[in-house]
Amino acid sequence: MALRVDVNGERLWRSINEINEIGATPAGGVRRLALTDDDRLARDVFVDWCRGAGCEVSVDRIGNLFARREGRDPSRAPVLLGSHLDTQPTGGRFDGIYGVLAGLEVLRTLDDHDVVTEAPIEVAVWTNEEGARFAPAMLGSGVFAGVFSLEEGLGATDPDGITLGDELVRTGFAGEVPLGGRALDAYLELHIEQGPVLEADGLTIGVVEGVLGIRWYDITLDGQEAHAGPTPMGPRRDALLGAARLVEVAHAVALAHTPEGRATVGVIEARPGSRNTVPGHVSLSVDLRHPDPEVLATMDGELHDRATEAAEALGLVLAIEPIWYSPPVAFDPALVDAIEAAAAGLGLPSRRMVSGAGHDACYLAQVAPTAMIFIPCAGGLSHNEAETIESAHATAGAQVLLRAALARAGA
Ligand SMILES: [Zn+2]
Repeated sequence: MALRVDVNGERLWRSINEINEIGATPAGGVRRLALTDDDRLARDVFVDWCRGAGCEVSVDRIGNLFARREGRDPSRAPVLLGSHLDTQPTGGRFDGIYGVLAGLEVLRTLDDHDVVTEAPIEVAVWTNEEGARFAPAMLGSGVFAGVFSLEEGLGATDPDGITLGDELVRTGFAGEVPLGGRALDAYLELHIEQGPVLEADGLTIGVVEGVLGIRWYDITLDGQEAHAGPTPMGPRRDALLGAARLVEVAHAVALAHTPEGRATVGVIEARPGSRNTVPGHVSLSVDLRHPDPEVLATMDGELHDRATEAAEALGLVLAIEPIWYSPPVAFDPALVDAIEAAAAGLGLPSRRMVSGAGHDACYLAQVAPTAMIFIPCAGGLSHNEAETIESAHATAGAQVLLRAALARAGA
């Protein structure tokens, strides 16, 4: 018979509020950049709370924290829950923090009820998820999963030239636990959606099947500079007009693959940048996303074909340089099913969805069966001091996390 225990939603909400006093901003957000004094304080509080719930806490060499609650069979690989405590410079109170403290709430609930699971359960705090202080983002989980070397991680520098490795030593989180080679039974990450879909659909739980793949391009268009007055419209080779058509092309490429296709032109620079000269040179960025690698490849082809057509029609020279590809992540089907079943068992309305944003779970998926749970956030707003969630949703998400963890760890 499945064990029925419930998380303490009030305690979870209180803990979120308490930890967010560290680095609280006047506008109601949080500023807790990775491995600053405020991040250290938040980590210290987390460690205290985990020890209070009977867990042992260890630190690995890139500063990731692991709070472990032993199982009946210590030879079994742990079920890992987790997220991050660092924030954006003008960050919200729930991005990352919620997933960590909901994991802690799972540990506390099991402790309250003296539940012993078969497999151990651990809660991880990943170092420098946001990438706001040290680039790249998701650095702690990336080093853990072997995507980046330990040397790369420790050598990452902030804008003042301070290395992440030095900050680990300064804050007391330069741990001893070696990276890699550790078996994990599963990784579950609970997070706010950071988008508007769940709220718009009136749903409580997002069952996350994967993460959008990303292709980045640098594009240039070359035409001819000419005087804005004497040059008639017909013979112009206006590179900025070409760029305007490329913005439409990118938009259309994504629209042809709704609802999951995305295309964004975030940067345009026209030269020579004079109000009475026809622009002769434009550079622009394109960001394409889709969860299916084949569709993303199709979108890539469509972007090339339609951009070429648009440039030729205006007599422009087009160059498209692909500069980055992050493949789509497909989460573990059995774990996705387990999350969906947990939500259904609790009577919580849910839908399957993909994440548009990157998460530590993307890298963990390379080393363990992984899946994510989303809850709604107001207006889909995140990376914003006004980011907020409903406490009832916070409780519901933690409850799904608990059920899914227990289904996996065995009780
Ligand atoms: Zn996050």
